Amino acid sequence: MCGRSETVLQFMINLNKFLKQLEIENNYKETENCINLERDWAILSEIQSVGFEKVTDISLDLLKVEFCYKDEKDQEHKLQLIIPEDFPKSEVQTVTNLPDADWAPKSIKSFLGIYTEWRDVLEDYLPAWKELADLDKFCWVLDPDPPTPCDMYRRLAAGPSLSVQVELDPGDPFQLPHLKFFGPDSKVNPLREKLCENADLWDRDDPLLANLENLLGIEFPDKSNVTREDLKIDCWICYSFNLEGATPTTICRTDRCSACFHDACAYEWLKSLPDSRTTLETVFGNCPYCRSPMSVKIPK
Ligand SMILES: [Zn+2]
Ligand SMILES: [Zn+2]
Repeated sequence: MCGRSETVLQFMINLNKFLKQLEIENNYKETENCINLERDWAILSEIQSVGFEKVTDISLDLLKVEFCYKDEKDQEHKLQLIIPEDFPKSEVQTVTNLPDADWAPKSIKSFLGIYTEWRDVLEDYLPAWKELADLDKFCWVLDPDPPTPCDMYRRLAAGPSLSVQVELDPGDPFQLPHLKFFGPDSKVNPLREKLCENADLWDRDDPLLANLENLLGIEFPDKSNVTREDLKIDCWICYSFNLEGATPTTICRTDRCSACFHDACAYEWLKSLPDSRTTLETVFGNCPYCRSPMSVKIPK
C-alpha cells in the first residue's frame, strides 16, 4: 500500500477515500468516537518518520501497523506495532519473530527508535539464519516442522532412525554448535566418539553443513534424492510425522528395530500395557514392534 503514499497528506487522502468506499459498501455509520484525529495524526507522523514505503500492513483503526525490513539477501522481516487507543499517552507493544522472545525496545516512545533498534538486533541474527537456511535447503529437517526465524536449532535426519540436533549460538554461529543425537545406541555411539575425536577439526571458516559432516564422518541425506520413507521418520504408531507440533523423538534402542514414535504415542502405548511400570517421571514397557524394553517420560 505504501509504495503509493509518499507523504502523510497523500496517505490521509487515500485513507479517507478508502473509508468513504467502505462506508458506501457496508453502509457504515461513523460515530463521534470512531476517528480520533489527534491520535491518528500522531501515529501517521510516527509512521512517516520510519517511512511509508516500509509499511506492509496497517489496520484502519490504526491499532496495528506492520513494518518490513529486507536484508541483504532480500529476505523480508516483519515488525508489528500494537498501538493503544490512547496513544501517545500509553506506549506501543511490539510483536517480532526474533529468537529472543523477551526482546523489547528501549526507546518505546518513537516508532523510528523502535524500528532502528529492532533492525540492529535483527542484523545480529543474520549470520546464524544464513547457516540454518543452508541446512533447510539441503537436509531433511525433522524438527522444528516447519522452521521459523525464532528457531535456532534443527534436528537433521542422518540416516534411517538416526538424527542429529544442531543448536547454534546466535552470538557466535560459527563455533562448534551444541549437538544432540537421536537413535539406537549402535548408531548414536559412533557419532559421540567422532565428536570427541574430531572436535579440533571444526573450522570456523567452513560452511556449517560441511563442518558437521567432517566432524561426524557422515554425509547427511540429501533432500533431493532421499525420501522420507527411506529415512523412516514417521511415527510407527500413528503413521504421521507432525502431531500437533510434535515430531517423533522416542526411538526404540534396539538396532534391528529402531522404530520411532511421538512421545505422546509411546506414552499411550506403554501405559496401556498390563505389565508396564511407572515411576514419578517415566513409564517403562516394551516396544510394540520388537518387544524390547523401552521407556518414555510422562508428559506434563
Ligand atoms: Zn505418533
Ligand atoms: Zn523396537
